Amino acid sequence: MMLYESTRGKGDVIPSAEAIKKGIASDGGLYVPEGFVRLSMDEIKALVPMSYQERAKYILRGYLDDFTQEELADCVDKAYNTRKFSSADIAPVVLMNSSLNILELWHGPTCAFKDMALQILPHFLVKAMRKTGEKDEIVILVATSGDTGKAALEGFADVEGTRIIVFYPDGGVSEVQKRQMVTQEGGNVLVFGVEGNFDDTQTGVKQIFTDESLIKVMAEKGLKFSSANSINWGRLVPQIVYYFSAYADMVKQGRISFGEKINFVVPTGNFGNILAGYYAMRMGLPVNRMVCASNDNKVLTDFIHSGVYDRRRDFVRTISPSMDILISSNLERLLYELSGRDPERVSDWMARLRNEGYYDIGPSALRLLNEHFWGGWSSQEETLKTIECVYDEYGYVCDTHTAVGIDVYDKYVITTGDLTPTVMVSTASPFKFNASVCKALSMDDSDDEFELLKKLSEKTGLPIPEGLKGLEDKPVRHGRVCRRDEMKNVVMEALGL
Ligand SMILES: *Cc1c(COP(=O)(O)O)cnc(C)c1O
Repeated sequence: MMLYESTRGKGDVIPSAEAIKKGIASDGGLYVPEGFVRLSMDEIKALVPMSYQERAKYILRGYLDDFTQEELADCVDKAYNTRKFSSADIAPVVLMNSSLNILELWHGPTCAFKDMALQILPHFLVKAMRKTGEKDEIVILVATSGDTGKAALEGFADVEGTRIIVFYPDGGVSEVQKRQMVTQEGGNVLVFGVEGNFDDTQTGVKQIFTDESLIKVMAEKGLKFSSANSINWGRLVPQIVYYFSAYADMVKQGRISFGEKINFVVPTGNFGNILAGYYAMRMGLPVNRMVCASNDNKVLTDFIHSGVYDRRRDFVRTISPSMDILISSNLERLLYELSGRDPERVSDWMARLRNEGYYDIGPSALRLLNEHFWGGWSSQEETLKTIECVYDEYGYVCDTHTAVGIDVYDKYVITTGDLTPTVMVSTASPFKFNASVCKALSMDDSDDEFELLKKLSEKTGLPIPEGLKGLEDKPVRHGRVCRRDEMKNVVMEALGL
């Protein structure tokens, strides 16, 4: 059986269901598989004629081998279907021009790539709880700056045995994002605004999570907290699937010959998405380079160039907000590999980051890093310019996060001359970040985001995605805004305690 160990070496070694249930290891580390599942070239070839769902079942079973095939099939079928996704291909690869292919990961219900993981995680979690003898109902608590909250709500809505409570900073999310959340349907969902910014909201949620007296009262009622954050193995593993799927589609469409290596370009924040691509490569997928694209918060670009991870810098609020991150949590899993799976070195680097604000991985680990990764960044001006150029030249409309990736890919080709066939990973629908996209396309300025959705649709001829359509007319189901110091009471009331 595949077992999972902590990147810091001290936690228990446990099967996947336990790792998914626990989320983070007790020593503060992240769970990683003891070894990579290897796929032979024949196995990879066998993926080519398969549907996305079949590919998912095939890849997942190597890592989640304590789940039965029926359980995995049930999770996959509930997550990836045309009731939830606007494309029957789930994660289609479309052609932008003769050298660039776009993997669109935003056909899910919330129009951003978080759906790829958060549509399936709730099903993994419920089965993992049952499998490990847990009888309690799961309470998911989320603090969100926008995207994750809605994706988690959609994923957990009406999933049996779970409840979800989401807090967002009132005034700290866009009008569209807020509307998406406060109109959420489902019998087990609750959403609250918090007076304050995202940090206040997140601190409040963290305190509730670790409130011993509350946890005790909950246990008496058969309730237990769990988390859906991006370091959970159950969120990372479904992301490996679409790298294999994209490769299979490239072969199927005749864009590459089977066995040929390709590059992936990934707009990166917490390092979860790109790490899944690296895992796919370690499993045998023919990958030449992973290109890591950042915005002004270019900690990762600097890290890939120097081997020094330095968070001692100002945080910049950009037009690609889902990449505005200075501490990329999932990077720890890559460090584990770069250190030769040495938990002491990883613990040391993480302690330095916490205490001094930076760490240096040294020349040999840096050499390993540069074998497979290239890093670059795009300024906000360059990002807007890219949206405009891509639309003018190819008629393709991309969102701000994807545009960061396309701009960095241009820089990659100019710097390296590498013309390997490349898949650009696109992480959000242009409608999701419509204000910046409209600005880039020099359209009428309007403060009304709902009006802009219509205008963008008229200009580009693309339909407004289902999840964003008619939002302004949907009834508000969760209108309450609370103070930071009321959050615990709000949770207790919501749970009937
Ligand atoms: C979350 C997110 C990212 C960053 O992904 P990571 O896995 O955190 O690196 C990029 N783009 C969009 C639109 C996102 O929502």
